[in-house]
Amino acid sequence: MDLKRLSISEIHKLYSKGDIKPIDVVEYYLSEIKKSQPITNSFIEVFEEYAIERARELERMKDTLQSYPLLYGIPVGIKDNINVKGFGTTCASRILSGYKSLYNATVVERILSSGGIIMGKLNMDEFAMGALGTYSYYGPVRNPKNPEHLAGGSSSGSAASVAAGEVHVSLGSDTGGSIRLPASFCGIYGLKPTYGRVSRFGLVAFASSLDQIGPMARNLEDLARLFIVISGYDPMDSTSVPFEVPALDKLMNSSSPEGLVVGYPDIIEEAKMDDKIKVNFEKVLSVLEHEGVKIKKLRLPHIKYSVEVYQIIAMSEASSNLARFDGVRYGLRKREENLVDLYVKTRGEGFGEEVKRRIIVGTFALSHGYYDAYYLRALKVRRLIKEDLENAFEEVGLIVLPVSPSLPPKVDEEIDPISAYYLDIFNIPANLAGIPALSIPFGSTEEGLPMGFQVMAPAWCEGLLLNFANFFEKIVT
Ligand code: GLN
Repeated sequence: MDLKRLSISEIHKLYSKGDIKPIDVVEYYLSEIKKSQPITNSFIEVFEEYAIERARELERMKDTLQSYPLLYGIPVGIKDNINVKGFGTTCASRILSGYKSLYNATVVERILSSGGIIMGKLNMDEFAMGALGTYSYYGPVRNPKNPEHLAGGSSSGSAASVAAGEVHVSLGSDTGGSIRLPASFCGIYGLKPTYGRVSRFGLVAFASSLDQIGPMARNLEDLARLFIVISGYDPMDSTSVPFEVPALDKLMNSSSPEGLVVGYPDIIEEAKMDDKIKVNFEKVLSVLEHEGVKIKKLRLPHIKYSVEVYQIIAMSEASSNLARFDGVRYGLRKREENLVDLYVKTRGEGFGEEVKRRIIVGTFALSHGYYDAYYLRALKVRRLIKEDLENAFEEVGLIVLPVSPSLPPKVDEEIDPISAYYLDIFNIPANLAGIPALSIPFGSTEEGLPMGFQVMAPAWCEGLLLNFANFFEKIVT
């Protein structure tokens, strides 16, 4: 049976009829991993024995359950910047080699108490810095839809493993597009929740004012389930917010949104974009218009500064967050005569080039005499971008825009770091404003490269995103 084509509720039906057991699902996915991992390189570590043991434990629990918890018996992959107790957390960096997590991230605790089965840790760009999945100590991730091309990043393994059917669903993290971009490159759904919706406790911090963990899945029901499970207030994360999490049936409503007005930002008309992506995006707008949705062009004067503002803020926060990796407390240690040499050697050899570049620029932006000119100014423009979006939501219910301006590049294509930063030009505004955004797969090229678009909603309105996506899916299939 091709289990990867089923939704979680379909798998639960098979469980309740006794047609299959969690161990069958785990064995199915382990054999898919064996087939696909040599092509995709999605995993940094596969928890084979652990997953089998966990499936047996869930089977023993079965009779004590009144109903199945949301993820009962469902294999989940975890991006390797999220802690799972007893296993390594590498962030795809050499500097964390040998480190073992001492505790579970809150999201992992919640997946376990909802009956999920953790299948392993997924490849990524080092410390989540990157858009292509190439900056990993463990090698690049290939796109399962066309392995000559990249899977996108930084949640490269999270997207590729779901698209290849190596896991049922996965967790990624999105600081400036890292869930949505690889989801779009691999043709799956990826949601960046509202800032504060999902606890960051146990997520290795990159840029704390922007980071959010989110779900990735092949269908909307699975995405909604994982979203519900990981969401909600956590006293361990002071930025998490006690906001009500919508129930599954509310999220899965696909009825036509009465009187919906959808906006798109004017920068799309000037932005450099692949023709195929442009045409595909115009198709999205015309499909919506045909269904009676009103489309409105929005003037958002400040979002053209998003990439620059994001990079200054993200690099500054990263330079501070990554100071803890000094060779004393975690992972790699280069023993030297004195402490300064130990720091220099460990950090010099432990971090990859892109991470070092960002630490250096971030340290500069925060340094005395430059702080006002760079960091402080970036914070002010961030506020203006947030206000642009808030004003836009006075006029429209949702905002649609492309995900990446380019198609997935070839694995050996040379892309300079600055051009890679601009791949997230459409993604970053949602992180700067803290609002939710959902990447929706739609269309593909003749070479089988997936395309898609994203939809953004006001803070805490993930329900609107899911309803819209269900509605959109219904009209295009
Ligand atoms: N591509 C962006 C960057 O390189 C976003 C990364 C992310 O969201 N983690 O910073």
